[in-house]
Amino acid sequence: MSRRYAAQYAPTGTQPQAEPTDALTPCVGRCNAAYRRAQAEYEDAYWRWADTVDEHGYTDAPEPPPHHGIEFWPGRPVWCEPTYAPVVGPRGQVTMDRVRDGCQGRITDALAELPGLLRDIPTSGPLSIAQPEERRATTSAAPSPSPAFDEADAFDRWLADLTDRLAARLGTTCPSGRRLDFAAAHPVPLLSGPDAQDDGEAIMSWHERLKRIVGADLKSRLPGTCRACDARGQLRHRNAEHLVKCRACHAVYEWDDYQDNLAPGEQWERSA
Ligand SMILES: [Zn+2]
Ligand SMILES: [Zn+2]
Repeated sequence: MSRRYAAQYAPTGTQPQAEPTDALTPCVGRCNAAYRRAQAEYEDAYWRWADTVDEHGYTDAPEPPPHHGIEFWPGRPVWCEPTYAPVVGPRGQVTMDRVRDGCQGRITDALAELPGLLRDIPTSGPLSIAQPEERRATTSAAPSPSPAFDEADAFDRWLADLTDRLAARLGTTCPSGRRLDFAAAHPVPLLSGPDAQDDGEAIMSWHERLKRIVGADLKSRLPGTCRACDARGQLRHRNAEHLVKCRACHAVYEWDDYQDNLAPGEQWERSA
């Protein structure tokens, strides 16, 4: 009863604003994380308040909960668009610059970076171990079968499916050797089709996954004991850095210092 009474003021998913919002829905991307959190809390609070309204429409709670006032980035139609704004240069020339990537911009950028990441996938060696310059001196063990191959295989299957669906929607066929180019050349239909949310999320997660495989963000555990705090197994190394850090006490060591003084030589060579 009380719910029905309250329903006429029910919170809606769209925010009041000057722009006509009838057709607008929030972008499904992480841009709206704060909005989604606030909206969920608001709706919870609203229905808790609504339950205090009796069947005659009376309540002791004076006011419904205030709206959070956060506006969402609208999906166009699924993901939000980049924002462009006029920027005046030093000699008064005006250009339209991309001042916000938007989820469409982030996804198309990620798509454009995939070929480079694929090229950089190591063809052998354990992917979980960082390979800083200095380690060239270390005798390397026999190359192990690379998990990178499985990743590439799974990637190819995903890409073929993505581009075949896209091509079918465009009434064409996808050139088999140039699937990534084909997808990158059609960002609008790619990100507005019936599978736009899944496809956009898949692009972002492949981008993250490949970045980790390639080592752009790779952090590896090193054996050894921290000299500062005596913690064992807490030393970490990030690819492309020459420093080793202790996770327990945040002590930092040069790579050479680590190798000479902290690394248990025998074990290290076996694990390398
Ligand atoms: Zn967005
Ligand atoms: Zn330490």
